[in-house]
Amino acid sequence: MTTTDQLYQIYLQHPVISTDTRKIADGSLFFALKGDKFDANTFAQKALESGAAYAIIDNADYKTSDKFLLVDDVLTALQQLAAHHRRQLNIAVIGLTGTNGKTTTKELINAVLSQKFNTLATQGNLNNHIGVPLTILTINNTHQMAVIEMGANHQKEIALLCSIAQPSHGMITNVGKAHLEGFGGVEGVKIGKGEMYDYLKEHAGEGRFAFINSDDATLLKMAEDRGLDNVVYYGKGHNTNNLVCGKLLDSSPLLKLKWNNRNSSSYNVSTQLTGSYNLDNILAAICIGSYFGLTADEIDQGVEGYQPKNNRSQITKTATNTLICDFYNANPSSMFVAIDNMDKMGATNKVLILGDMFEMGDESAAEHTAVIKKALEANVEERIFIGKEFSSQQTEAQSSALTNTTFYLTAEDALIGLKAKPISGATILIKGSRGMALERLVELF
Ligand code: ATP
Ligand code: MG
Repeated sequence: MTTTDQLYQIYLQHPVISTDTRKIADGSLFFALKGDKFDANTFAQKALESGAAYAIIDNADYKTSDKFLLVDDVLTALQQLAAHHRRQLNIAVIGLTGTNGKTTTKELINAVLSQKFNTLATQGNLNNHIGVPLTILTINNTHQMAVIEMGANHQKEIALLCSIAQPSHGMITNVGKAHLEGFGGVEGVKIGKGEMYDYLKEHAGEGRFAFINSDDATLLKMAEDRGLDNVVYYGKGHNTNNLVCGKLLDSSPLLKLKWNNRNSSSYNVSTQLTGSYNLDNILAAICIGSYFGLTADEIDQGVEGYQPKNNRSQITKTATNTLICDFYNANPSSMFVAIDNMDKMGATNKVLILGDMFEMGDESAAEHTAVIKKALEANVEERIFIGKEFSSQQTEAQSSALTNTTFYLTAEDALIGLKAKPISGATILIKGSRGMALERLVELF
């Protein structure tokens, strides 16, 4: 069996990892990970033929030369190699988890810190038990800092990811309603995300710190319950505990804000983000920039330069409408803040197009009903609900609805229905779970 130490020596000579035989980098280490439908041990020979230097496998039947390195379990070997590599790196690693806004906050933090440091950040959304070790293994000795996103949909996942990434600094963006099925309700989400604070508490003596939004009572309570005192705060209030505080100056639709840190005068920043909930994400990035000694100019340049990607609250102006494309994902918490944002937005002719929220388990019906209620109360001109879950709550909602409320069972039905009555001159929020694929509707507007 190949040990982690032996694997590490080989990794130092071959620091590029491949896991997909269709994309083998020359001289890389191929980790034969098991998928739902395949066992990559069977692809190891092909990986070597395609240019991999070694193939890490966990089935001895496939070991036909020294180029195959046998381990007990390939996934565990990958995770242990990443953890070992991390231990050798004497740099700050900022770990982020939370229900909503992880990727946006990670990108903002990276946009800010990269004004001064050579940073490495999680690519896209590679935030799970495979993505985190792969990300850690891309850190090299030119990097001065890393920003690592950690996602979870069940207990013990964040604990595992912390044991791999060993964050010197960590934050939970917020704790809300998502993946309720896997976590066992919102109390379960708190325990699962709280594993970040557990890790920082357990390793407090090693100079590890948490960044906490002091406006978030749930996070404050979670920190207090654990006796976490190695904390740096940020928030909207002029709380003397806050290293950085800030407030919105404008949000129609792009955010402008004013911020200051404890000893400084205040600064105004214009952003390319929409949705007042993004203020928390921006303040986290400003706080972390201040904490690591960036100047206000460097921080502002980082924030101003950041453009949201992949339909995470992305604004697009078409010939006829302004679209807020937020169909990357959806859960009750992010639905509520997105509807709130539309409610308060100073635009005329506002339209909500909302698709089903997935992975809600037993709470699905109640959560869809709550979103319908919230949408009916919002100050908007029209509401369109799409999907089986929303549609099954239709009767009660429709009887209490005013006008301009439509339900479609599927996105295909919505395409046909909306084509027949075009919308123009409107600001339209389109939001739903990834599986609803609401991007199909964009061509209509
Ligand atoms: P995932 O779990 O898929 O990795 P994520 O936590 O990385 O998601 P983002 O991709 O940054 O989250 O944002 C997805 C959507 O969540 C945004 O488009 C927006 O609707 C919502 N969102 C972002 N930030 C917040 C926030 N601070 N509070 C509530 N909702 C937010
Ligand atoms: Mg993400």
